[in-house]
Amino acid sequence: MDGCDGSRGGNRRRFLQATVVAGAALTTADTLLAADPKAGASVPTVTLGKTGQKVTKLGMGTSWALSPSFVQRAIAAGVRYIDTSESYENTVAEKVLGEVLERTKTRKDVYLVTKNAGYRNAKGAGAAKVFEDHLNASLERLKTDYVDCYYIHGITGAQIGMLSDPGVKAAFEGLKKAGKIKFCGLSCHDAQLVEVLDEVAKVGWLDQVMIKYNFRDVGGKDRHDDLQRVIDKCSKANVGLVAMKTQGGAVNFPDKMKQLAEKGFKKEVAAIKTVWQDQRIQVVVSEMTTFSDLRENIAASRDELTAREARLLEEHRKLTANLYCHGCGHLCETAARGVPVATVLRYLRYYEAYGKREQARQLYQALPQVSRLLVDANLHAAEAACPHGLPIVDLMNRAAMRLA
Ligand code: SF4
Repeated sequence: MDGCDGSRGGNRRRFLQATVVAGAALTTADTLLAADPKAGASVPTVTLGKTGQKVTKLGMGTSWALSPSFVQRAIAAGVRYIDTSESYENTVAEKVLGEVLERTKTRKDVYLVTKNAGYRNAKGAGAAKVFEDHLNASLERLKTDYVDCYYIHGITGAQIGMLSDPGVKAAFEGLKKAGKIKFCGLSCHDAQLVEVLDEVAKVGWLDQVMIKYNFRDVGGKDRHDDLQRVIDKCSKANVGLVAMKTQGGAVNFPDKMKQLAEKGFKKEVAAIKTVWQDQRIQVVVSEMTTFSDLRENIAASRDELTAREARLLEEHRKLTANLYCHGCGHLCETAARGVPVATVLRYLRYYEAYGKREQARQLYQALPQVSRLLVDANLHAAEAACPHGLPIVDLMNRAAMRLA
């Protein structure tokens, strides 16, 4: 891919010129990030599995109210992997990206991934039209005639059959043939991530996957051995591995964060470095929403995890272990009688740990009514079934109070 490692000076110069023209409204923080013309060459690159493409190991997540100036600065600072979806901000993220990539003429300098979120009924011979129609709309918003990779967005265990459906595979092959996508993959943060990855390794036609993976999963015998096993399988099959949600944010832990901050410890930096330490993971997609996040992550991409960071992060992991939901809903949701505990706790995390209050409320309120009927659920039995000791009764009641 041209320019993803910042080696193509022509593209770089062209982009910086475009930045000057477009940069009238930029802030001091933007200027600081753009001031170093060598910065674009300084985000390390990796080869992304069987795609064979060189991409930056730091990717930009876009599921927030993106500003064009932020996107522009991230690219100028050397981030050349962008992850988006038709569903982010209800298509607005794709529109913002399209506008910036066209204006700055940097489309070919970035590895661009988008996702199809409207595939629920796609199967057999009918799958091709579903994927093509959605992709065409994404391409129009992104102002491009191709994306580097196209994903099935947020596949769940219930949809695992799609991966062995010849019609779905043929749909992606057709899009590749038409030159509209270069590669294909999926994203998954479902409770059945293990089963999904097992199937990805088995069917063999997906080029890359994006999975929920953080310091609570990395290494250690008490850390989800099955997940490690299927990541190994995908890695051996040379499937590109992209991590998301690397912060492993627990709910309701400001006091514990305060203790760490007093020790001069930046948990966010240690968490992202820990995932990069896993040699099987090639890219971390991070949702950077401030220039300070961007600077910190770029600096972290060039550094190793220190022994002190590893020790303090482990301390933090132990302190918050019973406040982090691993998403293994199959273990507690039978008792909860139709209430999707893992999903609700994920939304509570968006609200409390990520500060995405409005988005968390919208997601919660879009759940079917039956999913919110806590009175009918046996939350005490669900709590007893949780192997991680989460106080489910308290957390679910708090979720209902904050998100309803
Ligand atoms: S509450 Fe416990 S059992 Fe339920 S999904 Fe979360 S970690 Fe798994």
